[in-house]
Amino acid sequence: MKGSIFIVSAPSGAGKTTLCKMLIQSMPDIIHSISYTTRPPRPGEVDGKDYYFVKEDRFLEMVRKGEFLEWAEVHGNLYGTSKQKLLETINNGTDVILDIDVQGASQIRAQQIDATFIFILPPSMEVLKERLTKRQTDTEEIIQRRLQKAREEIKQYRSYDYVIINDELEVALEQLKAVVLSQRLKTEKIPHEWVEKTFQLQSLL
Ligand code: ADP
Ligand code: 5GP
Repeated sequence: MKGSIFIVSAPSGAGKTTLCKMLIQSMPDIIHSISYTTRPPRPGEVDGKDYYFVKEDRFLEMVRKGEFLEWAEVHGNLYGTSKQKLLETINNGTDVILDIDVQGASQIRAQQIDATFIFILPPSMEVLKERLTKRQTDTEEIIQRRLQKAREEIKQYRSYDYVIINDELEVALEQLKAVVLSQRLKTEKIPHEWVEKTFQLQSLL
C-alpha cells in the first residue's frame, strides 16, 4: 500500500511546526518531509533534520533540473520539496506530512497529486502576534512582515480539505490525528487481497 500525503499550511506562527512535530512523535508510520531552503538556520535547527540548508545557487540548480515537486519564495527565502525523496517515502508505504506555504500547496493541487490538504488557523491575529513574538526567532521587522502576509495566506483556507484552529494545543493535535486516521481508514487503503482471502470472497464470485 502506498503512503498518503498530508499538506499542512498556515500563516507563520500559527503553530504548524509544533503540531507536526507532536503528530510525528505520537503516531507511527508518518514522517515529516524535509524541505530545502536558502533561509539560514535558526538557533537549534539542524541541517538534514529541520531543513536541508543550501545556498541559493544550489537551490536554483535543483529548480533547473526539475528536482522539486513544488517550490516557492516565502518571506524572502526559497523553499522546496524534493520530488524523489517524497516518492521514495510514499512508495515505501509511509505517510508523509508536508509543512509548506499556500503557494506550494496550490502547485501540488494543480498537479492533481492525491493529497489531503489541512489549514491551521490561529484563534486570532492578536494570538498570532503573541506567538511570533514569544518564539524569539525573528526580529520585530520580520514579525511585522509575517503578520501582513498572514491575512493573504488565510484567504486561501477554502481550498483546503480541513481547517484546524490551533487554540488549545492538545485539542488541535487530536484533530490533526483524527484527519490522518480517517485517511488511513479509507476503503481504498484496505489491502483488498487480505479481505478477499480472509472472507473467501473469491469463492463467492
Ligand atoms: P509555525 O511553524 O506555524 O510558524 P510554531 O510551531 O513555530 O509556528 O509556533 C509558534 C510559537 O507558538 C512557538 O513558540 C510555539 O511553541 C507556540 N505555540 C504553538 N501552538 C501553540 C498553542 N496552541 N498555544 C500556545 N502556544 C503555541
Ligand atoms: P519557516 O522559515 O518559518 O520555517 O517557514 C516559513 C514558511 O515556509 C512556512 O509557511 C512553511 O510552511 C514554508 N515552507 C517550508 N518548507 C517549504 C517547502 O518546501 N515549500 C514551500 N512552498 N513552503 C515551505
